Amino acid sequence: MKPVLVVVFYALAFTACKNEEKKVEMPVATTDTAKFTPAMVVNTKDYSCGMPVTAGISDTCHYEGKAYGFCSTECKNEFLKDPKKYLVTK
Ligand SMILES: [Zn+2]
Repeated sequence: MKPVLVVVFYALAFTACKNEEKKVEMPVATTDTAKFTPAMVVNTKDYSCGMPVTAGISDTCHYEGKAYGFCSTECKNEFLKDPKKYLVTK
């Protein structure tokens, strides 16, 4: 019995170790930007440059409780300088 238990223990330890490796990879991978989908934001176009958000969202911001997507951080910052200006002309 004992050798079997040892094998099981090592198998579990190995599995646990593998899981930990996966957990470490997630925050390291810069795939955060790929998680944004047009369905997550209220705007259909990047207010700063006019690009459709379906072309790709690499940054988002929240303004007055709503999420807005932008093709780049630069566009987001441009929007945040004067959000009302963009929202009024929508
Ligand atoms: Zn843009």
